[in-house]
Amino acid sequence: MRTLNLCIDIDGTVTDPYYWLARANEYFNTNAKPQNVCSYEFAEALGVTQEDYDIFYNSCAHAIHAEAKIRLDAKYVIAYLAKNHNIHYVTARDKKYTDITSAWLNKHNLPIRSLTLTGNADKRQNAKELNCDIFIEDSLDNALQLSGAGYEVLLIDCTYNKSLLPKNVTRVNSWYKIAMIAAKRAYDTNFKLKTA
Ligand SMILES: [Mg+2]
Repeated sequence: MRTLNLCIDIDGTVTDPYYWLARANEYFNTNAKPQNVCSYEFAEALGVTQEDYDIFYNSCAHAIHAEAKIRLDAKYVIAYLAKNHNIHYVTARDKKYTDITSAWLNKHNLPIRSLTLTGNADKRQNAKELNCDIFIEDSLDNALQLSGAGYEVLLIDCTYNKSLLPKNVTRVNSWYKIAMIAAKRAYDTNFKLKTA
């Protein structure tokens, strides 16, 4: 078995994708449901302006990230994958949330080889620096951008990332499927590692 560099997004990928909805509904006095979140335009799903959403996020971000629910299958599978592979978290969160993000990963006993907060949505340079073999994401835009740069992406199925996908992006319904694909790549000598 070969060691893979696995780059893993955090929000919506390791966390439950809709954990912030309850707090947002309370703040805006709305009743948005997961099925209303059809794109990354969360303000639209709530029926509020982007400006108001940004005020909400900036005032509640620490609490939102601290109370984020974990996807239980992610917790178990990442612990399993870390026995043989390098786990690199790459999130678009702003760098000022480094401590709260690190504390959250530790709280859930998630194995960490590295943690990068990019502060912007473009993760291609991080994938390059980390010799990424597989990128695990929930953002359709990131998936398309990374696959366009030649990376294999596993896209966790969510209400907001429905689309046809290019050949090197695979839609997955659970972390167990991710474990199966990672195992396949680790044993497949035809799969060219980025470090090779
Ligand atoms: Mg995400």
